[in-house]
Amino acid sequence: MAVVVSERLARYGFGDGHPFGPDRHAAFVREFESRGLGKRVQILEPRVASYEELLAFHTPQYVDFVRERSATGQGFLDGGDTPAFRGVYEAASIVVGATLNAADAIMSGECHRAFVPIAGLHHAARDRAAGFCVFNDCGIAIEVLRKRSGLDRVAYVDIDAHHGDGVFYGFEDDAGVIFADLHEDGRFLYPGTGTSEETGVGPAKGTKLNLPLPPGADDEVFAREWPKVMAHLERFDPQFIILQCGADSIEGDPITHLKLTPGSHGHAARELSQLADRLGHGRVLALGGGGYNRGNLAQAWNAVVENLL
Ligand SMILES: [Zn+2]
Repeated sequence: MAVVVSERLARYGFGDGHPFGPDRHAAFVREFESRGLGKRVQILEPRVASYEELLAFHTPQYVDFVRERSATGQGFLDGGDTPAFRGVYEAASIVVGATLNAADAIMSGECHRAFVPIAGLHHAARDRAAGFCVFNDCGIAIEVLRKRSGLDRVAYVDIDAHHGDGVFYGFEDDAGVIFADLHEDGRFLYPGTGTSEETGVGPAKGTKLNLPLPPGADDEVFAREWPKVMAHLERFDPQFIILQCGADSIEGDPITHLKLTPGSHGHAARELSQLADRLGHGRVLALGGGGYNRGNLAQAWNAVVENLL
């Protein structure tokens, strides 16, 4: 088991006082150390992803646009949720490099599982930023894993309160991406997508599972829906499993309305680990995702680490 812990990774944030502030990393690490997990895992460093790696998912026009805004630090990268700051290009490239280093550690056999706290930026589309997400490290990792490691089927599971629209629409017609997403119903929460009728298009029809939850859904609702995720994955025999374990689905998040506890996050991590072991490869990469209540993200992400262990 490997975990990326680094001050360089912490720099991805939109200023003190923003829900996605740079203090989220420290909130995770304090709890990680107090549980003694730092001694039980291998610590990985991030790196700066290359321009070519960013282009595995994003368009060159968009990557160049982020680089230009990064130099001035002025304006927004989208309609108004994701402000530019000086150095945002490098900070976002380090998130991608952290996720790719973790994926590499798994594929090289250095470890079976890995966790990256500041990662899982699932709203970024191929050609634009969205919802605090600049570069979509999940999408880039999926593309890079398939190109470099020759994998045909990568599973992406998302339990963040928000629908993983950047990943979903980025691979909507791609049968090689087995997608399952539990999220707050889009009628009540950004980004408004992810109805149960959205199951993939063309050759990918049936490879995508969207399970919208009503506002206020708790662990009991989660436990009822979760077996559908497991059954969906088992049908497709994925060779690598990504878990976006956003902590904004925990009760008390300031911008969502779900009422899960960290127990649901731990349960998801444990079940996916057991599935990966049954499939014979053991590969699970967990990415922190959202979560804007610092106490919640510390509890949920460390529950994920303990259950991956
Ligand atoms: Zn979220």
